[in-house]
Amino acid sequence: MKKPIIGITPKIERYSELDIIFEVQGQNAFYVDSVKKSGGIPILLPIVSDEQMCRELLGMLDGIVFSGGHDLSPYVYGEEPLAKIGAMDPTRDVSDVMMLKIAKELKLPILGICKGEQLINAVFGGTLYQDISYNKDAYIIHSQKNLPQHPAHLVDIIKGTHLSEIYPDAEQIRVNSLHHQCVKDLAPEFRVSALAKDGVVEAIEYTGDQFILGVQWHPEMMYEYSEEARELFDFFVKKVNLQKKVKLKK
Ligand code: MN
Repeated sequence: MKKPIIGITPKIERYSELDIIFEVQGQNAFYVDSVKKSGGIPILLPIVSDEQMCRELLGMLDGIVFSGGHDLSPYVYGEEPLAKIGAMDPTRDVSDVMMLKIAKELKLPILGICKGEQLINAVFGGTLYQDISYNKDAYIIHSQKNLPQHPAHLVDIIKGTHLSEIYPDAEQIRVNSLHHQCVKDLAPEFRVSALAKDGVVEAIEYTGDQFILGVQWHPEMMYEYSEEARELFDFFVKKVNLQKKVKLKK
């Protein structure tokens, strides 16, 4: 079987030169390299706004990674922006929300990373803490000051979840932490699969018949340094391959 094609959602970076504003759509090489090294063919996706185009584009994929980035617009989960919300990008949010809904419809295996995890929770009916300080129980540093390839804190792996399948012998793993928002109310039909020691939700997954996993940390940045980060991508690519086989049989 051919290697699976795995899309990576883009962020937008803008810079100006000679009074022209240039927009760069893409993601950093950590995502690309992690997918490659775990056996997938990575494809950097463009920003989309047309539904038909999005459908055709995602129809070419076997799996999709929703990448990290700015804060998600709180309108996606029905809230006004609070004082401590960070920078947002409505152009990207329109694209991300459309892609996620269509990826779900197409039954693509989905991996959400950081903002990607928050997006999954919000789009499927959950809410976010717009800043972790709004969660009075949170006391751990979630915006680490050490290098992102190094772990920041522990997360407890919840039994009976996909994550516990990835780490059958581990009750907890060390992860990096580069987020100032987190899940508040969990989306219906989802379960929590990892928690920080302060109760901050660190991973969620769909309970239905489709692989959708969101992690709050950045395994792609730890790929070269952490067996556990590699295992997570390996598992995702394995799930993508399984779903590809199901599709080929039809
Ligand atoms: Mn964290």
